[in-house]
Amino acid sequence: MGTTDLVAIRPPQHGLPKPDRPDLRSMDREELGQWVAESLPGPAFRATQIFEWLHRHRARSFDAMTNLGQAVRATLSRSASLGGLAVDTVQQSADGTRKLRLRTNDGHAIESVLIPNEGRGLTQCISSMVGCSLTCRFCATATLGFIRNLATWEIVDQVYEAQDMLERQATAEGAQWTPRITNVVFMGMGEPLHNYQQVRRALAILTDERGAGIAGRRITVSTAGLVPAIERFGREGLGHEVGLAISLNATTDEVRDRVMPINTRWNIARLLEAVRGLPSPKRRRVTFEYVLLDGVNDDPDDARRLGTLLRDTGGQLNVIPFNPHPGAPFARPDAERVKTFVRQCRRGGLDVTVRRPRGDDIAAACGQLALEGNE
Ligand code: SAH
Repeated sequence: MGTTDLVAIRPPQHGLPKPDRPDLRSMDREELGQWVAESLPGPAFRATQIFEWLHRHRARSFDAMTNLGQAVRATLSRSASLGGLAVDTVQQSADGTRKLRLRTNDGHAIESVLIPNEGRGLTQCISSMVGCSLTCRFCATATLGFIRNLATWEIVDQVYEAQDMLERQATAEGAQWTPRITNVVFMGMGEPLHNYQQVRRALAILTDERGAGIAGRRITVSTAGLVPAIERFGREGLGHEVGLAISLNATTDEVRDRVMPINTRWNIARLLEAVRGLPSPKRRRVTFEYVLLDGVNDDPDDARRLGTLLRDTGGQLNVIPFNPHPGAPFARPDAERVKTFVRQCRRGGLDVTVRRPRGDDIAAACGQLALEGNE
């Protein structure tokens, strides 16, 4: 099998589990409005009330929607479903990072990581698939293969379950305040742009001021480089102001073909052309992620080439020292080598941030926990 055969060019076809009744949390406000207009006789503001119960108050049952009449709640229970993920395990790292393993109703494990950020809030890393449709060689999730896309409600519920957990913890500890999830990154399991429709809806819901109300500029969608979807993302202004991160991870096609087979379909030049073609406010917010793999892509020549490649993209470089996981044929460069690489990139004129390894003691590298849960 040639490398191109390994690249999922078309979106994966495995269907989502089909609920007998529509799941209301998989609808954005407009879709919910339509559904309510067709299914529930009554005033139009009812749709907004229900949306708020689902996404702002994180209601777990229709009975909890106390400002709706008995009859309305009974109709809702009969005609709609309200699913929930189950929190399987929570692990806390010495550095404050928390990792959640969540179970879907059909028994798959997905993971989500909570990382304290500079403010008092938390950044949550969420998943868009069970497994992944791509075959990046350094990624733990890739070893699972593609199992299925997540439904919209399964994407947003990761945030709601985590926020609920934080509230329960704060109450149990008698804390003065509950830490809030202020930022969301689609950097967990899966390729979000291969699950475009569900991710698009999840973004609309998370950024809705009647819902979770997370500002679009505090949300980042990370992609391995699905060029047509990047172009669509730019055209459609997917989720107001939402940022885009591109996993570049190499500076030559020869190396990128090897570590990210998607490059055999859309190479570095094509990928950067798509980024340059984004409308300028989006382009300014593009981040290039660069997983540093010892002896593979961390040479002074790589640093120099990065400067040339990224100069006119307006993008920021985020260097991520490789997170080792069992069986991975790569290693993390030592701290000195990381420092040298970053220094060289900066000398080349790039705006560089380095991601501090987080949650090392709880295996918070992409895909690791879920890997254990899906065996
Ligand atoms: N499919 C998307 C989002 C999931 S991966 C994408 O490729 O961007 C999120 C980020 O984690 C990517 O930048 C990826 O390169 C990085 N990553 C994956 N495995 C890693 C590992 N073992 N160590 C460090 N970063 C990793």
